[in-house]
Amino acid sequence: MKQRLCAGAVLLLSLLTACGSDPAETAVSEAQVFAMDTVMDLRAYGDAGETAVNQAQEEIYQLEAELSRTREDSQVTALNDAGGAPMEVGSDLAALLTSALEYSQETGDAFDITVAPVASAWGFTTDQFRVPSQTELDDLLTRVDDSRIQVEMTADGAVVTLGAGQTIDLGGIAKGYTSDRIAQIYAANGVTHGLISLGGNVYVRGTKPDGSAWKIGVQDPAQAQDTTANVGVLQLEDAFAVTSGGYQRYFEQDGKVYHHIIDPSTGYPADSGLLSVTVVAPAGTETEGAGSGTMCDAFSTALFVMGEEQALDFWRTSDRAFDLVLITSDNRVVVTDGLKDRFSGAKDGYTYETVS
Ligand code: AMP
Ligand code: MG
Repeated sequence: MKQRLCAGAVLLLSLLTACGSDPAETAVSEAQVFAMDTVMDLRAYGDAGETAVNQAQEEIYQLEAELSRTREDSQVTALNDAGGAPMEVGSDLAALLTSALEYSQETGDAFDITVAPVASAWGFTTDQFRVPSQTELDDLLTRVDDSRIQVEMTADGAVVTLGAGQTIDLGGIAKGYTSDRIAQIYAANGVTHGLISLGGNVYVRGTKPDGSAWKIGVQDPAQAQDTTANVGVLQLEDAFAVTSGGYQRYFEQDGKVYHHIIDPSTGYPADSGLLSVTVVAPAGTETEGAGSGTMCDAFSTALFVMGEEQALDFWRTSDRAFDLVLITSDNRVVVTDGLKDRFSGAKDGYTYETVS
């Protein structure tokens, strides 16, 4: 980790950020971590920043060790190997499973962590990509149903039982949960300006040190290799912003693209007419109706599966506070009206609409 004085503009993944108006005054602590299969950037300003960023790094490594299904010694691997026997899990996994099941119900099963064996069949766990046969998928789909998971909360975690033959994959929600934990760490250390970017999961604390909003780029799916190519910019304070996109992980076979977000009802990569979904929610336990990184992460995956029409219906009827930026395969950028003063975009080749 390094600590330095802020000097000029910094371009960081999709974060378009500039430092404070009084550069000499603002100490910034930063770290870049590779974990959970992604590059993670952490930044916190002020005297408390260094401790906060150090603690955040430790938290990331600890959560990865507990939650990864590709690590042999993780709690998730033990649960997946338990063959349907009850297993004690710690408080993080207990909380995550509870949230995953809740958001699954809320999204009509578009989000389902028991999609794991199907994601594996496509090779997304091992990078040995292949197109499974329909017979294979039909067989694997009989294992996809998270209502068969039992979670009994205990004093220090939960006793969890998976259904027969079931395995779980927290890849669609774990980074969001991690961002919530880091938000808590920033708060506990008294960090008032900071940000984190965990591979498509962004959390901004407060404003930039100069009092202006953070600028978060929404990636152009057509230029996925260029992480500075945006369809527009969100101006956010105390907020989570999470993007799911087919362009983030995919392979091509016989001229067809197969991406990593699986429709649990078909076993195929979701073909819903969306290229990406960004979910934005207010942060902070003090804020009434605040969202969480966990929620945004689960919703971004689920709404990608749903497609534009269902996603907008979900947004209109949900009691939760969040907004959306949808990018469709016919090159429209659809922004819900809570973001109308916070999103600006004018990229050639896209049309922009605000919906209410
Ligand atoms: P995200 O980038 O948050 O949309 O998460 C995508 C990851 O979540 C994939 O790489 C899988 O590990 C997992 N996943 C894929 N499809 C689903 C789904 N329908 N519900 C829950 N998790 C999923
Ligand atoms: Mg997600």
